[in-house]
Amino acid sequence: MATTLSTPAELATAGRVDLHCHSTASDGILSPEALVSRAKSQGVSLLALTDHDTVAGLAAAEAAGEAEGVAIVPGIELTASWGRRQVHIVGLNVDAAAPALRGAIEQRWRLRRERAARIAACLEKRGFSGALAGATGVAGDGVLGRPHFARWLVMAGHLESEQQAFKRYLGAGKAGDVRVEWPDLAQTVESIRAAGGTAVLAHPLKYGLTRTRLGALLEAFQDLGGEAVELLCGRQNPLQTADLRRLLERHGPRLRCSLGSDFHRPDQPWRELGCVYLPADVEPVWNLWQTSASERARGPLQH
Ligand code: MN
Ligand code: MN
Ligand code: MN
Repeated sequence: MATTLSTPAELATAGRVDLHCHSTASDGILSPEALVSRAKSQGVSLLALTDHDTVAGLAAAEAAGEAEGVAIVPGIELTASWGRRQVHIVGLNVDAAAPALRGAIEQRWRLRRERAARIAACLEKRGFSGALAGATGVAGDGVLGRPHFARWLVMAGHLESEQQAFKRYLGAGKAGDVRVEWPDLAQTVESIRAAGGTAVLAHPLKYGLTRTRLGALLEAFQDLGGEAVELLCGRQNPLQTADLRRLLERHGPRLRCSLGSDFHRPDQPWRELGCVYLPADVEPVWNLWQTSASERARGPLQH
């Protein structure tokens, strides 16, 4: 198959690239197989599956990628603490079996279970009984998160929409927005690097940081061994992208650029798989990877 012969750079010129998306292994609504096949139909040739705090969807995605001719980059999106803030770090080209990554995942699942119990308790107090069992049922084998509580509240007929669930109970500052001490940025970057992966700062514009704070985050991330930033994540205002590029020149000159849709579900066209393109004059993250994603399965990459 062509994909086994191509380097990531060749694949990136042959089709679209999407290095950030979710399946049912976390809070996406398509199975890894359905996701890969949708990516194929969107013209994606290089796809990273980056579920929240899990690699459980990767084997199925890789098998589907083989069948469909889509090269799969094994990935993950890890939640981390940066001071009092919560940030997301995407790990690309990771060895899913590496003990360091396994440990990082187990730690987060423990924190998520604790958080889920606290969210459930808060919903129970407001009269929504059976919240934990309900949300767990929605999540199935997937990693339990707030979106599963939102879906359960709608499915059980308590609320009209998931947006309503976030607005009233689960969103920032609401009772169900339970604080969690996630592993810190340094530890998170280290877990990814120890698994042979590339640490990428996800959607830097979505943390509500001032330019000064964002500059500080870029510097900290680069100093800790972070290697790339998502210059584009979902459809983005071009002015914001240009501004982010200026910030990168100043505060993260060694950081490569990544991109992704952050696709979760088909009914959000602004986050369709393969919806963004990297400008031609930036250094793409895949230049760090010497061999194709499929070859990667046969042994760790040399960076
Ligand atoms: Mn998500
Ligand atoms: Mn994220
Ligand atoms: Mn994401």
